[in-house]
Parts: sequence; structure tokens; C-alpha cells
Amino acid sequence: MTKTKAYAAPSAKSPLGPFSLTRREVLPNDVKIDILFCGVCHSDVHTARGEWGGTTYPCVPGHEIIGRVVAVGRSVKKFKEGDLAAVGCLVDSCRDCRSCHENLEQFCEDAVFTYNSPDEHTGGVTYGGYSTSIVVDENFVLRVRNSVDVAASAPLLCAGITTYSPLRHWKVAEGQTVGVVGLGGLGHMGVKFANAFGARVILFTTSAHKIEDAKKLGAHEVVISKDEDAMNKHARSCDFIVDTVSAKHDMNAYLNLLKRDGTLCLVGASPDPIPVDAFSVIRWRRSFAGSLIGGIAETQEMLDFCADRGIACDVEKIKIDYINEAYERMLRSDVKYRFVIDMASLK
Ligand code: NAP
Ligand code: ZN
Ligand code: ZN
Repeated sequence: MTKTKAYAAPSAKSPLGPFSLTRREVLPNDVKIDILFCGVCHSDVHTARGEWGGTTYPCVPGHEIIGRVVAVGRSVKKFKEGDLAAVGCLVDSCRDCRSCHENLEQFCEDAVFTYNSPDEHTGGVTYGGYSTSIVVDENFVLRVRNSVDVAASAPLLCAGITTYSPLRHWKVAEGQTVGVVGLGGLGHMGVKFANAFGARVILFTTSAHKIEDAKKLGAHEVVISKDEDAMNKHARSCDFIVDTVSAKHDMNAYLNLLKRDGTLCLVGASPDPIPVDAFSVIRWRRSFAGSLIGGIAETQEMLDFCADRGIACDVEKIKIDYINEAYERMLRSDVKYRFVIDMASLK
């Protein structure tokens, strides 16, 4: 067991602060990683503040982890000391259910998430990447090529895979028009991936100051969603939409952007229910869907795709003691477009 420095939320209402936790001994199939960078996902805020319910405190968030392997168990085959390695939102699953057999571990009923999940090794809950090291079974550790920008690749582990997976599942390709709603951590990767897959990309944003950035990131067109006329002009223009908004919003306004038989996939996880008018889906045989991160194999595929294509996230590096301010800025949509904690600041 090793003592590990971390940052934790002591309760839903208190700011995050220094915390010490214990990582398990390296078991035969385990990889121990010294964390270099950890991205700051909006899910970290939802969980730390108990907005979805079910948070166990103290809570150590962080599931966009990249670091260097410092120890491996005797049965480990994929990694050796000194390798770069990554951990996303999942650290284990049952490995024997239908979802696990189909490489969709995120839907396993016994999936163990990187933080705030029951941890059979410690008897407590899992602690995430706002810490200096982590021990994970090699089957849930991703390979990272030496050629990549490590800090800018960390958010691929959640923001990347969460947008990559639905775009792949719904077979987004050239000739299609894809809407991305919200230009935050997930949204800016949705724009990059939809563009990389050859689609025409329209970004729908509430923030007029993001128009130029969105175009640089790969949007062919930007619509300010508060502008009703502009929204009406885009009615029935999209084949597929990925909606990354983190709070309650008018879903019908976005469903109306879909063509006949189009699909809107919600990945944003508003703590409040979102009403859908029957006629928003009935009238044009539209589908309203959702998607949860991605399985381990697909996450590796996405990391390799990004390394091949030179795709990474636009990040602002921060020190760990800036985390509470970073949360406030993220809530104000004031981040370009993902905060990443430089874990050297915790050592
Ligand atoms: P983020 O960086 O804060 O981005 C969210 C964006 O949504 C904001 O930048 C803003 O974009 C827009 N927005 C925020 N509040 C809004 C409101 N009230 N009305 C309209 N638009 C609003 O967050 P993120 O890290 O990308 O995460 C987004 C959501 O996805 C969170 O709820 C998170 O928990 C969830 N999530 C889900 C999964 C999954 O597997 N499904 C995985 C990771 C995260 P504009 O300024 O451009 O309007
Ligand atoms: Zn996340
Ligand atoms: Zn399973």
C-alpha cells in the first residue's frame, strides 16, 4: 500500500482541498502509474457537488488521466516501466456479461468507475486522478504513443471518447450534416471528430464569443442558439446531433433541427429532467438517444486515431490549487476548452 497525495471534496458544499489516500499494492495484473496530467471534466463538478446524488465523501474526482508506468505486476503483458499510459472513466467490470463480451464495459452492471464506485480492494470507494498515482488492472489501462502531447491528450480519455463513440455508432460520414450543441470540453472534441469524419459541422452555442474559435476547431457554421430566427432557419437541417450541454435546456429546439429519421444523441448529463414534446419526435420519425463514454477497445481505437491524425484537445494547464476557481470558470463557460491539472503541482 502506498500513501498518495490527492485533492478531495470533503462534502457537497465545501471546496476541494488536500487529501491523503492509500493505493493498493501492485497485484499480478496491475499497472502503477505516476500521474502527469489529469483533465477536469464537468462530471467531476456534478459528482463533487453531489448534483446527481450518490456521492460518497471525501470524493477524489478525475478520469482523464495520463502518466508514466512506474511498476507492473508479474503477469502484465501490455506495459513496462517507463511507458506512457492512460486511464479513463473505467477501472474494472465483471468481464463476463453481454456488454463485457461486446467490448461495451461501460454498460456492464458491475462496471467500476474511476471514482465514486465501490472498490472491492479497499472496501471503500474508488479515488480518481486528482492524485499523484493510481493502480489499475492492465485490461483497463490504455496505451499512449510517445509522440503525442501528453497534457493535450489527457481529456481524450473522457471528452474525446464520449463524443467519438456516438459519432462512430451512428456512422457519421461525409455527405452528412452534424450538429454539435455546446462548445465546452466535450463539444470542442465533437466538432473536431465530426469534421475529421468528413461531415459538415454546425455548432450551436449560447456564447457569441466562441464563433471564431469554433470555426478554427472545425465547425463550418456557427449558430447562436438564443437567436430564434437563426434556429428556425436550421430546422430539419441535421442528420445527427450530439448534445453536450451540462444543464437543463430546451431539447425540443434541438430536436427540431433534425431531418426526417435523424437522431439527437444526448451526452450532456443535466441533473434536472428535460421535457420532450411528443411531436418533436413523432412528426418526422426522429430518434432521441443517449450515449455513455465508450468501451476500452474503442477508447484505444480513438487514442490511436488521434495520434495518427494529430488530433488533441485545446487545454489550459493549471496547478492543483487552482481547481476550485477552475470549477467556477467552467460553470461560466470560461475555459478554452478544457482545464488540465499539471500533477507536478501536487508532488
Ligand atoms: P463543459 O466544458 O462545461 O461544457 C458544457 C457546455 O454546455 C458549455 O461550454 C456551454 O457551451 C453549454 N452550456 C452550459 N450550460 C448551458 C445552459 N444552461 N444552456 C445551454 N448551454 C449550456 O462540460 P463538459 O465537460 O463538456 O461536459 C458536458 C456534460 O456532459 C456534463 O453534464 C458532463 O457531466 C457530461 N458528460 C457526459 C458523459 C457521458 O458519458 N455521457 C461523459 C462526460 C461528460 P456554449 O457556451 O457553447 O453554449
Ligand atoms: Zn468525464
Ligand atoms: Zn460485465
